[in-house]
Amino acid sequence: MASYRGHLKFSSMLAVANGLLATFYFDLDWGTSLMAAGITAVSGLLPDLDSSSGVPVREMFNLTAVVVPLMLLKRMLGFGLTEDQTFAILAILYVFIRFGLSNIFRHLSVHRGMFHSIPAMVIAGGLVFLCYTHDSTMLRVYMAASAMVGFLSHLVLDELCSVDFNGVSIELNQFAGTAVKFFGPSLFPNLFAWSLCIAVSYFAWIDFEHHALAVKSDKKPNSDGLHVMPPKVQPLTKTVKPVAQRFSQL
Ligand SMILES: [Zn+2]
Repeated sequence: MASYRGHLKFSSMLAVANGLLATFYFDLDWGTSLMAAGITAVSGLLPDLDSSSGVPVREMFNLTAVVVPLMLLKRMLGFGLTEDQTFAILAILYVFIRFGLSNIFRHLSVHRGMFHSIPAMVIAGGLVFLCYTHDSTMLRVYMAASAMVGFLSHLVLDELCSVDFNGVSIELNQFAGTAVKFFGPSLFPNLFAWSLCIAVSYFAWIDFEHHALAVKSDKKPNSDGLHVMPPKVQPLTKTVKPVAQRFSQL
């Protein structure tokens, strides 16, 4: 089993690679690139939220309690609530994640249970897609993929470990086969994880279709600025000129 530091090192390396990809290949601005890199780094630590309480796990819950309300802020602003109402809901969400959810996790989850699995990776990606609000659907997909890559890196590392980062020795240990899995040994955690996976995927798909259709139908910008394609993210959604048009330019 890789250590917290091992996961942090590995996911940080992937995060840097993702940030460079976002900046230099997809031509995203530095803020968005940092966001993608940050999502990869944090997702690489997420599966160990199911481990017994320790400082890293507590820190992760603190971080999640701050990041999730921040990601939801833009979406909440479109709901027509007052500033105070929005703030109250975000504060309640913070308290729920920070204290409620962390306690639920401590009591219900088993380390290396279904939180270390492929459906859990899909849930993480789906939640990032739903929480991250942006006018570009492709950018939201990119953020979800960033989360899933980070999450998968954790599962693969757990599967391969022990990894000695100083001596570069990789060998299988007794935990092999418990991280990159579709099903666990117990029925209830399997049902719960797969139900959640299907539900999150369904809502993400509905949202994806709705958003993509709205962009396709060329909606004019509305009051909250939805469905506008800002020039900065266009390289991700670049359209290819029709062949006839390209030939006519020759
Ligand atoms: Zn783990």
